Amino acid sequence: MSGYDVIIVGAGPGGSITAKVAAEAGLKTVFFERGRKPGEKNASGCGLGPRMWREFPNIMKELKPDVVPSMRMASCVMNHYLDKDLKERAIEMYYPTDSVTYDPAKKFITMNAYRSEFDPWLAKFATDAGAELKTSMLIKRLVKDDAGKVIGVQTEKGDKILGKIIIGADGVISTVARFSGLNPRWRSDQITLVPQYDFSADREKIDKIYGPDGVLANAADGIWWGVTFPAAYQVIFGDGFHIGLGSWMGQWIKNPISYINQLVGSKPFQRMIKAIDAKPREVQSHLLPWTKEPIKTYTDNVMLIGDAGGFPCPLEAEGVYPAMETGKLAAEVAIKAISEGDTSKKNLKLYEDKWKESSVGIEFQAGESLQTLWKNLFFSTQSEKNNMEWFIPLHVEMNGAHYDWSEPHIVRFRQILNKIQEYLPEAIPFMMKYGMPVLSDIMEENASTFPLLMKMLENMRPKKKK
Ligand SMILES: Cc1cc2nc3c(=O)[nH]c(=O)nc-3n(C[C@H](O)[C@H](O)[C@H](O)COP(=O)(O)OP(=O)(O)OC[C@H]3O[C@@H](n4cnc5c(N)ncnc54)[C@H](O)[C@@H]3O)c2cc1C
Repeated sequence: MSGYDVIIVGAGPGGSITAKVAAEAGLKTVFFERGRKPGEKNASGCGLGPRMWREFPNIMKELKPDVVPSMRMASCVMNHYLDKDLKERAIEMYYPTDSVTYDPAKKFITMNAYRSEFDPWLAKFATDAGAELKTSMLIKRLVKDDAGKVIGVQTEKGDKILGKIIIGADGVISTVARFSGLNPRWRSDQITLVPQYDFSADREKIDKIYGPDGVLANAADGIWWGVTFPAAYQVIFGDGFHIGLGSWMGQWIKNPISYINQLVGSKPFQRMIKAIDAKPREVQSHLLPWTKEPIKTYTDNVMLIGDAGGFPCPLEAEGVYPAMETGKLAAEVAIKAISEGDTSKKNLKLYEDKWKESSVGIEFQAGESLQTLWKNLFFSTQSEKNNMEWFIPLHVEMNGAHYDWSEPHIVRFRQILNKIQEYLPEAIPFMMKYGMPVLSDIMEENASTFPLLMKMLENMRPKKKK
């Protein structure tokens, strides 16, 4: 039996950053990966958010197409709206807006890379820093002392490896979370199933349609909002794309694949496939925690990071950045705790304090309200009463109807207002029930914005004649 300062289970984005930070501080660090190499299952998570460039600039500046060939920038996002007949009602495109505060978030929405290339690339930073990576090594359970405290891990062959701190970076089905007692199992409202198709496509045609010199769009990723399927994301890479959609385990009322098939079979989607000469390459289906708040993430000698702790963002389930950030924070706490000779849960509580204060924790301040709104609108799988049935025509009427030249503009505006009124009996109660809680969460944080608005409105009000 050998002993380590830090044992990390999992060599995904979270595990690799944890291993890098711990090893750089001189801790004896090992990270275990059940796959033959990190990223073997290529489980998506391939739209990389700009916060990664802000928080990990020295690493992310090295991400280049020569080391990660699938890499491609999505400088904007393209929304497609499909009605219940799968007819495309609108396409919108958005670049980063003026309120964005830092580079490179001003330049792109996401940077895309296949996990089969990204994960091994990231793991090398950890091994270069001195961490040992053990691949093809499945951790089956945890080793505990007589008092029931975790003191190591056990491989499927029965080998026991001891460590002062054990970090669960082992994703959604986390052995560390389960055997440490931190999370015996997810509730159905905490976990989503995400079917996804991967298509190969012609590089030149992707560039022509979506590339920097494209005519239709400019390096865009797509979101497909539909009445008959939950919102689907399309992430475009150098040589192909993913199309996937997800919803909570307790919420599916039909086979999840049937929803994605509806979208793939729609005319606009088929038109896009033909334009870039796309061919189906792989079918995937993965679980993903999608929680309103993370679970308890520490106990004696143990911390959970990334998916194992339920950290994907509550709105869109961005999970790579949260895994890396919580990995960094857990490593920093491990370094301090080990130097103090106290790895008890009392001392590791600092990890929870740190992630709550971080950009990852701030996401969850409106976790409940945002997720409830999304669940009842874009990610709904209900067939009888789907809020997208009024939302899509209302959205289109509000944003696009004025382009029409069928009548004098004043007449058109009257027609539009009349039409909008038809949707209000459904839209107003919905906004009161699901929109107001979001607004109130936002206002709480930004209390100064509201008085300013009120003052402006007050000044604009016509003054009564005396
Ligand atoms: C379909 C889909 C699409 C997604 N799209 C995005 C996206 O576009 N952008 C984004 O930011 N996030 C996305 N996510 C979320 C993102 O993939 C995850 O949040 C992220 O990968 C979490 O990183 P992690 O390091 O915590 O865990 P993982 O990436 O899951 O890594 C865990 C690692 O641990 C290994 N492991 C597990 N158990 C053991 C064990 N017992 N012993 C040894 N090794 C083990 C696994 O093989 C794996 O390599 C998506 C998720 C899914 C499912």
